[in-house]
Amino acid sequence: KAAGFPARKTLEDFDWDAQPAVRQQVAALASGGFLLEAQNVVLLGPPGTGKTHLATALGIVAARHGHRVLFATATDWVTRLTDAHRQGLLPKELARLRRYGLIIVDEVGYLPFEQDAANLFFQLVSSRYEHASLILTSNLPFSGWGGVFGDQAVAAAMIDRIVHHADVLTLKGASYRLRGRGIDSLPS
Ligand code: ADP
Ligand code: MG
Repeated sequence: KAAGFPARKTLEDFDWDAQPAVRQQVAALASGGFLLEAQNVVLLGPPGTGKTHLATALGIVAARHGHRVLFATATDWVTRLTDAHRQGLLPKELARLRRYGLIIVDEVGYLPFEQDAANLFFQLVSSRYEHASLILTSNLPFSGWGGVFGDQAVAAAMIDRIVHHADVLTLKGASYRLRGRGIDSLPS
């Protein structure tokens, strides 16, 4: 899996009955037009609602349209950027990443960032702004991102750039993982 997808998940595999509200939005994104316009996609929702599934499926769509795609968790992206920064290679790495039409950042919000990491992540977002697409997933609403990035101002500046040209998809409901297991909901 050269693009780094954790598992192969497609739009065809997705059960729309579980997320009827986003069906039309996802169908529109599946044309791939968002990539040509460097638009972003943000998938928000509680655990198990299909954020990683849809991010992967849209990544596969992008690859089919001939775009280079990289998938990693937010934590992994920060590790990569930190390594590049330590070696004095951050500008070079950001330039290299700009050649990818789509970068997927999964799981923003599960782990908080250190201040330095938050700044590096902000630079990734800035370097792609109006140039190439990002897909981000998060279990937190935007209002909770300040706590993740440790700084309300950095979070606000980043969200501003992300959502200026973005589709925000809000997934709802119970975890698909727990279906049929007699478990109604997870602690929130
Ligand atoms: P999240 O990233 O939101 O925590 P995932 O995308 O990892 O959730 O989904 C958890 C599991 O349930 C995965 O195996 C995924 O393929 C499956 N899944 C979630 N939602 C759906 C759906 N609507 N249709 C089919 N499978 C789904
Ligand atoms: Mg996930």
